Amino acid sequence: MAVTFSGHVSAGLGPEEIGDEEIAAVTAVLKSKNLFRFFKSREESYVARLEDLFAEKAGAAHVLAVNSGTSALISGLVGIGVSQGDEVLVPAYTYIATAAAVLALGAFPVVVEIDGSLTMDPVDAERKITPRTKAIVPVHMRGVPCNMEAIVDLARRRRLKVLEDCAQANGGSYRGTALGLLGDAGAYSFQHFKIITSGEGGLLVTNRKEIHDRAAIYHDSAYTFWMEKNIEGELSDPEEIARWKQACFLGENYRQSEVHGAIGYEQLKKRDAILARTRAIKKKLRAACEALPGITPEATHDAEGDCGISLALFTESEERTKEVATILKAEGIRCGTRFSRHVPDRHLFYHWDYIMEKRTLHRNGFPWTGGARPCQMEYSKEMCPQTLDWMSRGIFFSIGHLMSDRYLDEVCRGIEKVGKALS
Ligand SMILES: *Cc1c(COP(=O)(O)O)cnc(C)c1O
Repeated sequence: MAVTFSGHVSAGLGPEEIGDEEIAAVTAVLKSKNLFRFFKSREESYVARLEDLFAEKAGAAHVLAVNSGTSALISGLVGIGVSQGDEVLVPAYTYIATAAAVLALGAFPVVVEIDGSLTMDPVDAERKITPRTKAIVPVHMRGVPCNMEAIVDLARRRRLKVLEDCAQANGGSYRGTALGLLGDAGAYSFQHFKIITSGEGGLLVTNRKEIHDRAAIYHDSAYTFWMEKNIEGELSDPEEIARWKQACFLGENYRQSEVHGAIGYEQLKKRDAILARTRAIKKKLRAACEALPGITPEATHDAEGDCGISLALFTESEERTKEVATILKAEGIRCGTRFSRHVPDRHLFYHWDYIMEKRTLHRNGFPWTGGARPCQMEYSKEMCPQTLDWMSRGIFFSIGHLMSDRYLDEVCRGIEKVGKALS
């Protein structure tokens, strides 16, 4: 049963479903008076149960819960071996955290154009590869799967690693494989505005043990200590303990608390029912929009694996897009345009100020300058014209699972009416 909290900000989806289950799970954690994930069996720890349930649903060999999507990205980059001075390809349209995670390790984000699905364009990705390129971070923006066949093929040919940013695509898949498992690893976010949430939280998924192990070490500066002391003896074999100690390097603290694990676990159980609804809504909305003259819906690389939480339409020009959006809104249809030169939206490279200006906290200019491998790139607002073109011509719909059939029918009728007026 959904509980309504007055005054909360919600993107719909998971937050709207916070109810008795989450409350009971958090209460159980508080009553246990132990909010720390370790020193428990995997059955007793909500964080471990979240990892196990996610692994089962995704078919992943290894899942590591962390405290944010950003820390999942950083741990994942450590996992795949990114280090100082490496270049990492990121799309021009993604939340700034994708690029910031690369910089946090002293590596450099190389900004790649998007295609008509508003995800990374594999053709431009190939163009931007240099001898310093180490990895590709495709981002499944707005729940839409990237062209993973082309990206994985490119990575294989050029011997690059792939870390998928799945922050906005929890529950999505590509040709039947869960997102995050097509490349080497995938990072998920459970922040409040994602499909499901624990307020703040993240997960790293991978099928490769060495990636998981490196990420696990980095996510906790004392990881092997807790593992060794864990009552279930996750590391009971002395040889295994010795191996871990040998492998260990410095880490930070990206651990997830039991309170967050409890909420995330209960939300995960609700995820697929939410997505069944959003997917059905998107199919209907898209079909209605296909009849609009002079308007092209977003390209899709996998309609079945799409999470269904958004839809973008394109007209032939920025001006026309503004006009059509105004006409749609006049019919009571909730939609909007995204690109503005003046409104600083951190989802677009154009507004990534501190990257454009190569700002840093380090006195010697590290990582841009002052390191062993200084940055070879120049960034500018003009560097990804294809991305600005797509974004400026886009009309965007957000889809929530609570959209009623009645409202959806009204929207479809409104779109039909607009279609007649436009033709
Ligand atoms: C939200 C988001 C992140 C960062 O996740 P946090 O949990 O907020 O750290 C990274 N990438 C994308 C595409 C996102 O939408």
